[in-house]
Order: sequence, then structure tokens, then C-alpha cells
Amino acid sequence: MTNKHDIAILGGGLAGLSTLYHLQKSGKLEGKSIVLVDPEGRKDTHDRSWSFWEAEPGPFEELVYHRWPLVTVHDSKRNLDCDISPYVYKLVRSVEFYAHVNEVIDGIVGLERITAKAEGVKAVGEEVHFSAGGADYVTGLAFSSLPLHLRPRQIKEPYLDQHFRGWFIETEEDTFDPGRAALMDFRTPQHGEARFFYVMPFSKRKALIEIAIFSNNHLTVPEYDALLKTYIYDHWTEGDYKITHTEGGNIPMTTYPFPVRDRNLIYIGMRGGATRPSTGYTFLALQRQLTKLARSFPDLTNIDPWPTRHVMYDATLLRILQNGELPADELFVDMFAKNPPERVLAFLNGETSLAEELSFMWSTDVFLFGRRFMGEALRR
Ligand SMILES: Cc1cc2nc3c(=O)[nH]c(=O)nc-3n(C[C@H](O)[C@H](O)[C@H](O)COP(=O)(O)OP(=O)(O)OC[C@H]3O[C@@H](n4cnc5c(N)ncnc54)[C@H](O)[C@@H]3O)c2cc1C
Repeated sequence: MTNKHDIAILGGGLAGLSTLYHLQKSGKLEGKSIVLVDPEGRKDTHDRSWSFWEAEPGPFEELVYHRWPLVTVHDSKRNLDCDISPYVYKLVRSVEFYAHVNEVIDGIVGLERITAKAEGVKAVGEEVHFSAGGADYVTGLAFSSLPLHLRPRQIKEPYLDQHFRGWFIETEEDTFDPGRAALMDFRTPQHGEARFFYVMPFSKRKALIEIAIFSNNHLTVPEYDALLKTYIYDHWTEGDYKITHTEGGNIPMTTYPFPVRDRNLIYIGMRGGATRPSTGYTFLALQRQLTKLARSFPDLTNIDPWPTRHVMYDATLLRILQNGELPADELFVDMFAKNPPERVLAFLNGETSLAEELSFMWSTDVFLFGRRFMGEALRR
């Protein structure tokens, strides 16, 4: 027997749940029958922390676990202290996000949740077909965030993994400034890659410290842990601390042209290209895209997550990093040293005007960037 629904949400992580949340909040799901499919079922854990910066309160303002008005950026020679106003750096934990969003989603009258893998997903004419848990489904529309596994060597576009591991720690002595987060701290041997730490203090004694590496060579857990241990000892405390929680993962950074739709099958989340290729940040752009999508729904004609010219800037930057043409620590710290911090953050969020982008580009190695930018333009 085939089950019929109006809408399928395939993948109930950040993108799938956010899609349902924004559509429900805009009153677009009344009278619709919806099926939400995820093998992990209803999520309720702290499996990731989403940090991002924004200038105005966002749709999940009440869930923000901590805010930092100041950030620091470091390499082996420079320690920059940046007031990022009007931006604020924020962190939302998945545990609060899932609880809040699930409560709104529970109000959708026509929703059925299925704990199974969606398989054989395909657009067929005006419908989307798939199977899950041994049953066949046909829907008029589907939003899919099922992961797409790219093989870096098989694609022409620049590709770097951002792999990372973080420790939530509690120190025995006052160690941190809870008003100041380290956005990029490159004070660790680079090994020809981009290696840096994020430090997000929640109080004088509690912080999330994360090592992030832009490279296609992954480390083992003991190797990430050794880097974290040395960094904390060298720059934060020689005293004791306990690790209360860990998290880690991988974010593909690429300008691979992720398709955003195949007829009535719409791709969302990382699968739909919502990740900023040059930084790995996804949360803010995804919420921005889905807020807009919910407003225009059922019109789905203009749903690209990033403006094309930003994708070109990212291809340029990623290519330079991947070819090792400029040391990453120099490149990123230079951006903050030579520009007002709010301009760098606006640029990375895709919120700058063309004039601001040109002045931003001018602060870089303009001949190298210009040459690579032309190369990327000709490739397309
Ligand atoms: C640990 C971690 C920390 C991160 N931190 C940040 C951050 O600080 N800031 C930021 O902007 N971004 C961050 N990201 C990147 C990005 O925001 C997240 O990866 C985000 O969860 C991506 O959303 P998504 O919906 O595309 O993928 P996911 O949230 O991973 O959701 C995909 C869902 O698909 C389900 N699924 C898989 N296969 C199937 C199948 N066959 N059928 C049905 N369902 C399936 C999975 O169970 C999962 O629930 C982080 C990523 C990770 C992993």
C-alpha cells in the first residue's frame, strides 16, 4: 500500500525541523498532511552547539545560551581585541533548540513522525516518491536534508573539510572573561593547514574550547585532544579542570553547486548548500533562507541560500587556502587587522554591498585574489 501526504520532511535535524517550524509559525501548514522521517527519531540531546553572529535579535533569540559583544583574533605575532558592534556573537545549544522547535511542531495537526531511513528518494513528475520502514510514500512536495557524501577528488570545485573537536571545561580558578570569545586563535603549529581554536567562555570558570582544522587530512581523537590540552595549558590555565561534555564533527567547505531543487524535491540544509563555503557557518544563513521560504510558500522560485557573487569570493578564498598560496593564519588575522571587525563579519555573513566588498578585497593580497577570482570566473 502507498501512503500519500502533501509534504515530506526527509531528515529531522536542524534544517528539517527549522523548515517545519518556520512554515508552522507562518500558518502555512493548516489542512496539510505531513510526514517527518528520520532514523534518529525525535531529537532531544545536546549533540551540537551552533554559534553565529547577528546584528538584530533573530527568530531564536530566547534560546541563546550565551552572547559575546567582544571577540579576539590571534596569530603568533598579533592579539587583536575586536568590538564587533552592531554584531553580537551568540551560541544556541541543540538541546534547547530541539525542545523549543519540537513543541511548536507538535502543534501541527496533520503531522506523522516516522523513525526510519528514507530510501530511494526521487522526484517523479509532480510528485516525490520514497520508502521508509518498509512502506512506500508519495508526496506532492518534499524537503530533503539527507546528507550528500562528496568525494573531494571527484569534484572540480575547491573543497576542504573543517573537522573539529571541542571540550566543555570547568576550571578550578577564575580563568575566562565571559564577555569575550576567541573567534580564531591560530597560536598552534599550522602544519601547512589552517588550524585554530575557538574559545567560548560562559562564565569565569566555564568555557567551550574547540580545535578546528581546514584540511582533508583528519586526525584521531587522541590527536585532537593532545592539541586541546597543550593549548589550554599554554594560554589559559596550568591548573586543574574537568571536561564536562565533548562534541565534534566535520563540515564540508566547498563551492560545489549543490542543487537546491529537482522539481518538487527541495534540498535544504548542508545538502542544499546552506553552509558558507569559506567558514562552515550554517545556522544563521539557513534560518534566513527558511524564514524567507516560509513567507513566500508555496512559491519556491527564489530559495538560493547565498548570493552568487559570495560563492565566487569563497571559491577564490578556498582555492588559495587549498593550494597553500597564503598561510591561513596570516590571511584571516590580516582581514581583522586591516578592516573594521564589523565589516569582516558582515562580509562573512553575506550582508555587504558591492562597494564594501571591493574595499574589503583591497585590504587583501589584491593581485593574488584578483588573479584567482578571474580564474574562478572563467571556470564557470
Ligand atoms: C558538532 C557540530 C557543530 C556545529 N557547529 C556549528 C556552529 O557553531 N555554527 C554553524 O553555523 N554551524 C555549525 N555546524 C554546521 C551545521 O549548522 C550543522 O551541521 C547543522 O546541523 C546542519 O543541518 P542539517 O539539517 O543540514 O543536518 P543535520 O542537522 O545533521 O540533519 C540531518 C538529519 O538527516 C537525518 N538522516 C540522515 N540520513 C537519513 C535518511 N536516510 N533518512 C532520513 N533522515 C536521515 C539525520 O539523522 C539528521 O537528523 C555544526 C555541525 C556539527 C556537526
